[in-house]
Amino acid sequence: MKAKPTASNLHPHTGKIPLSEREQRHGHRGCVVWLTGLSASGKSTIATELERELFRRGCQPFILDGDSVRQGLCSDLDFSERDRHENIRRVGEVARLFSDAGFICISAFISPHRADRDLVRNLMPPGTFIEVFVNAPLAVCEQRDPKGLYAKARKQKIKNFTGISSPYEPPLKPEIELPTDQLTVMQAVEKILKLLEKKCRIKSMPGKPAGKSPGAIRWSDW
Ligand code: ADP
Repeated sequence: MKAKPTASNLHPHTGKIPLSEREQRHGHRGCVVWLTGLSASGKSTIATELERELFRRGCQPFILDGDSVRQGLCSDLDFSERDRHENIRRVGEVARLFSDAGFICISAFISPHRADRDLVRNLMPPGTFIEVFVNAPLAVCEQRDPKGLYAKARKQKIKNFTGISSPYEPPLKPEIELPTDQLTVMQAVEKILKLLEKKCRIKSMPGKPAGKSPGAIRWSDW
């Protein structure tokens, strides 16, 4: 459900290119792949590999990532409950625009609150919001701690840290759940791709997946 605009006398402009024509050009439907989960559960890692593979298949993917968005669009927001809500609302609206443009928008945000994620789902045309629960146990995330954030949160150097001092509400009916303590990155990506083949009509494409930059994921991880 859209928020009621504060301004009045608004006359939204409709262009002359129907979504169907955009989708025909891209070769797939527009949609939002919404990755939610604890910090270090693997959202950004999976988003990056998914984007690379979609691009290799000739699709139009684009990532919206929490840390990047907080440096620009949401640089005025902190991690208080109110600002977390506003962060997801803004990102949801941007994701919707990408989807309207026929893109596959991959959004990687902790997005701890069910109500906020549902708000974004309800912005979208039916079937075009794909909620992906990137689910690793807190202990695993804390052990990975790639950015050293859990260590800081335990020492109370970070306030409102999800999983430690701020709640995370897991999705009740995600389109996909990825237990990243049991799956490799590429197995997780493959699961999303399979669903996108059905829901967004992306092409399946045999061959070696892209995105094997040195030092990233090894081919043997596939
Ligand atoms: P998030 O975006 O959820 O905060 P990141 O992707 O930044 O998480 O970090 C996850 C870390 O866990 C990375 O260092 C990644 O290499 C590692 N990792 C280990 N196994 C997996 C897996 N199966 N899926 C995703 N990440 C994994």
